[in-house]
Amino acid sequence: MFSKLIIPLIMMIISVTACKNAKQPVPASADEFKYFVEQFEDIRILKYKLPGFDSLSLQQKKYIYYLSQASIAGRDILWDQNFRYNLQIRKTIEAIIDNYSGDKEISDYKAFIVYAKRMFFANGIHHHYSSDKFKPGFPEAYFKVLVKETDQSKLPLAKGQTVDQLISVLSAVMFDEKLFARKVELRAGADLVAESASNFYEGVTQKEVEGFYKANVVTNDPHPVSLGLNSKLVKDKGKLTEEIYKSGGKYGAAIDNIIQWLQKAISVAETDSQKKELGLLIEYYKTGDLKKWDEYNVAWAKNTDSMVDYINGFIETYEDPLGMKATWEAIVDYTDLEATKRTKIITENAQWFEDNSPIEPRYRKEKVTGVAAKVINIAMLGGDCYPASPLGINLPNADWIRKEVGSKSVTLANITNAYDVASQGNGFLEEFAADQAEVERIKKYETVADALHTDLHECVGHASGKLAEGTDPNALKNYASALEEARADLFALYFMMDKKIIELGLLPNEEAAKAAYDAYLRNGLLTQIVRIKPGKNIEQAHMRNRSAVCHWVYEKGKSENVVEFFMKYSKTYVRINDYQKLRTLFGDLLKEIQRVKSEGDFEGGKKIIEDYGVKIDPKLHAEMLDRYARLSLAPYTGFVNPMLTPVYDPDGAITDVKVEYTNDFLGQMMYYGKNYSFLSGSN
Ligand SMILES: [Zn+2]
Repeated sequence: MFSKLIIPLIMMIISVTACKNAKQPVPASADEFKYFVEQFEDIRILKYKLPGFDSLSLQQKKYIYYLSQASIAGRDILWDQNFRYNLQIRKTIEAIIDNYSGDKEISDYKAFIVYAKRMFFANGIHHHYSSDKFKPGFPEAYFKVLVKETDQSKLPLAKGQTVDQLISVLSAVMFDEKLFARKVELRAGADLVAESASNFYEGVTQKEVEGFYKANVVTNDPHPVSLGLNSKLVKDKGKLTEEIYKSGGKYGAAIDNIIQWLQKAISVAETDSQKKELGLLIEYYKTGDLKKWDEYNVAWAKNTDSMVDYINGFIETYEDPLGMKATWEAIVDYTDLEATKRTKIITENAQWFEDNSPIEPRYRKEKVTGVAAKVINIAMLGGDCYPASPLGINLPNADWIRKEVGSKSVTLANITNAYDVASQGNGFLEEFAADQAEVERIKKYETVADALHTDLHECVGHASGKLAEGTDPNALKNYASALEEARADLFALYFMMDKKIIELGLLPNEEAAKAAYDAYLRNGLLTQIVRIKPGKNIEQAHMRNRSAVCHWVYEKGKSENVVEFFMKYSKTYVRINDYQKLRTLFGDLLKEIQRVKSEGDFEGGKKIIEDYGVKIDPKLHAEMLDRYARLSLAPYTGFVNPMLTPVYDPDGAITDVKVEYTNDFLGQMMYYGKNYSFLSGSN
């Protein structure tokens, strides 16, 4: 049951107390680069390197710098989108960390800091992956003490709000387990809108939302806009209204700051077409016009040859239970020239993959256009990409642009590398692999197989296939994300075992493909559930995808023992007995999921995800959690950003951009809070 909102909504005006230009966190020593930064609860923090940054031209460095500022400027937007009390809570916690003068050595204060770090990591008070609200590890009464003993002038009080009122509002929000319990509710049968705490809707039911957007669909539009992408839908005096994210509109103050940095970026952009593209993005941010957004995306997708690129906007819809509204995200990146050769091979053969895909021929694309694939290094992560970063990105999302113009696909080399290096020798593989041969295979081929899986997933997987005429692109609703990820994964898995891959020089031999299958099945059938609390279901789209794929092929291949579970010393393991047959099963499922997507078969898609992707065997779950706990590892990883600082000459012109790294996760968060906060958190 969901308790209705009992907290008075108070309009807040935050007093400006932040001291601008506070010092960046302490840089890490330059001579010894260590990826590991720190670990708390279920989170591991790493840093990433900027290889080759020094050899970029001054213009490219300036361009990266301005875009990096635009990547952090929208940070507050995401916090508010995730939950409408997030900003007020964060600002209160920042005030406490900065100003509380009591004992900081006691266990309650230490638990408070862990809570703060978890919140900073999740961009809010709900877990970034499981979506559950954090349970503070300190008593409610102690929170009151912390706020009371903090310099009151630094608290984010609303106009006319007393400190006691602030405490009572935030205490209820943070400590009452029944209130706002989940950020994104995806359980079948729930009112996905009313029962999710994320802030895309207010005062409306799922039915009303669906009715509103159905009425706004332009039928038979060959270039449909992404309806509802950049707005909050609210009920105002009984009438449904969209509050558009734009300059002068919702989140206007943060958007204006983004625009300001994008304008500077235009002045040093590499090409005229990039300048034009940035101009379109600014126009979109000024107007909120979704046609302009598509126009921008077409320009962005076509710009494939620049060294420096970026993402900046309302893009992914994972956090909206209805999969329509996008969270704000940003990255800045530059090309990894060496590794890009690999994805170029895939791109050049994109049509071959499409023509040989095991899907129904009528759902194949006759012409796979412009599947641009690049390996990049990240220079800055922002919004929904920070601190938890993706490993690969394929954009834009609009189906018609992907079909007519193509999409850009990137693999994040320096991020992936940080993961791999930081994870070597932590005992995880040895604990869960079926035997020593598997351990050896994985150690030998993990890096190359992982990279190829990501490349195939992003470059050709997401880009493949097409919808049947007249299919509603939103038909799969809350199952769309998981099914789309499954489709891309299956595409990669199916082709990795193809001899064409060895012919193209993408894998050294079949053993490498076997390593990819071993790792995928072991993760999907066994280890990924260590990220989930006992008694809970799988909610996150990528995890649902992996679970659904693995359990489906396991079930379908059971009579022939293609994949088997077995016990050794009372521990459960997974073994693949027939790799070729497994490959065929991957192909069968890819065919079915492509059909589901192409035809908009909601029930068919629901069945795959609900039957194979959601539930966890409680006995196996307990065993996995126990074995995992003994390894003392954190299941989630995120990153601190490097610190980019311009070097000026006496006339104020930038002569260089300096890169430094930090080991101070909390310090970086506090720094961003002081220097990049443009929204008040008013409800
Ligand atoms: Zn994907």
